[in-house]
Amino acid sequence: MATDILTKPIIGGTASRTRIYNNFIDGEWVEASTGETFENRNPADTRDVVGIFQKSGKADVDAAVAAAKRAFAKWRLVPAPRRAEIVFRAAEMLMERKEEYSRDMTREMGKILKETRGDVQEAIDASYYNAGEGRRLFGPTVPSELPNKFAMAVRQPIGVCGMITPWNFPMAIPSWKLLPAIVCGNTCVIKPAQDTPLSTFNLVRTLVDAGVPKGVINIVTGFGSSVGTPMTEHPDVKAISLTGSSEVGRIVGQTAAKSFKHCSLELGGKNPMIVLDDANLDLAIEGGLWGGFGTTGQRCTATSRIIVQKGVYAEFIERYVERAKGLKIGNGLDETVDMGPAVNENQLKGDLNYVDIAKAEGAKLKCGGHRLDSGDYQYGYFIEPTVFVDVDPKMRIAQEEVFGPVVSIIPCNDLEDAIQIANNIEYGLSSALYTRDVNRAFAAMRDLEAGITYINAPTIGAEVHLPFGGVKATGNGHREGGIGAIDFYTEWKAVYVDYSDKLQRAQIDRPE
Ligand code: NAD
Repeated sequence: MATDILTKPIIGGTASRTRIYNNFIDGEWVEASTGETFENRNPADTRDVVGIFQKSGKADVDAAVAAAKRAFAKWRLVPAPRRAEIVFRAAEMLMERKEEYSRDMTREMGKILKETRGDVQEAIDASYYNAGEGRRLFGPTVPSELPNKFAMAVRQPIGVCGMITPWNFPMAIPSWKLLPAIVCGNTCVIKPAQDTPLSTFNLVRTLVDAGVPKGVINIVTGFGSSVGTPMTEHPDVKAISLTGSSEVGRIVGQTAAKSFKHCSLELGGKNPMIVLDDANLDLAIEGGLWGGFGTTGQRCTATSRIIVQKGVYAEFIERYVERAKGLKIGNGLDETVDMGPAVNENQLKGDLNYVDIAKAEGAKLKCGGHRLDSGDYQYGYFIEPTVFVDVDPKMRIAQEEVFGPVVSIIPCNDLEDAIQIANNIEYGLSSALYTRDVNRAFAAMRDLEAGITYINAPTIGAEVHLPFGGVKATGNGHREGGIGAIDFYTEWKAVYVDYSDKLQRAQIDRPE
């Protein structure tokens, strides 16, 4: 089996199911130059070691970039439809492996199986979409201003692309980067988040099984400063794509700028959901629960602020809080569980810290706010679904990204007031409006400062063939998904062919 080639079980001891995963460089699974490793533990039960991964350093990044550079010389010349066929095959294989990979993902990051199946499905959808791109990669062919002259623009690959990913969508996000990059003819070095490397291994293993040649995709695992920084600084890395916090985005963006690298930053969010008096309240409550507590609130697009018009404010709170209290918390491998743990101890501490901050600021805690650590919860990083009400939009709890199951409910007078509250923030990723009034829906679609707006749906649920990303501190203007990714992973080359057999000067010669 492929896994036996790629990984090796620990010899002896109790950890017979624990595997050591090596870096993947130039088609070989190799140990890190540092000789060090780190553990990946299940956040729902920290006694469960999911795997042991390489704690890599600069030398490993250098080796991976060198391999990717060598592979680029050949890969860029493989016709795009042929490159895309490999990605199509990978989609079919991912379908077969979906259940196994979903379970691995729940074990390594905690979100419930329904959601990890969705994460793998997103990689499958992205594979089919990008496989189709291999036969498009459209560029404009336009008339020249001169006679007997042909003008067009073609897309060309950039070269070696460095990718740095977060832990909350551990297969979907790597797929958004790797698949368009390789279909466009680039080669890649990816550093997955230290909490969730296994899902990236599963994706890359599948791509390799489907036929991606050696050196085209390389994995180097480890931490931000020891792997992410050398990758961002490397002169042979021509493009960097980071999905992560705005704090890390600032660092990566500044470093990449020094060597004029293409740089795509997909960063944090503090996403508002507006509920107007005329909304279908049942739908809004359902959406607010899914958006607020799905993935334990650890989505960049999580519904973290619910802005409710005064006519339905009291009823919304009463019903929403009741439902939040009823959510079943536990190990995501149990199909009856609604919400899994926080991804790690630091994240849990951060969530609890924000609960204290909100209380100190005067927000009213309506439910939750505590760690769950008795009985079955004792070995995991569990926290209750938490709802604050009467939140002032200026409070830190309403301004800063918590990245946990903590929802702030804010009252508003009307749509205008709601949009002002929604926009008066550093971030601009996703947004939502619940109303039955089409006029107000269109006004909100125009005025909400966000890369994504949902009408009568929560702030989560992006599809792979539309542009994904945000405005303001959420990014630097690039988009993933759909054509946005193709734009990032290609360079334009304008091509002119003059078949007049004489010198024709643009802007100077004007034939009658
Ligand atoms: P993070 O910023 O802590 O880490 C992201 C990645 O960057 C990790 O792989 C990490 O090891 C690496 N890194 C850390 N320091 C680095 C450095 N100095 N140089 C290079 N790389 C470095 O984020 P996280 O905790 O993994 O993920 C949560 C964050 O990601 C949240 O802010 C969330 O909003 C954001 N996110 C954004 C999107 C989006 O598309 N906009 C999607 C998912 C998550």
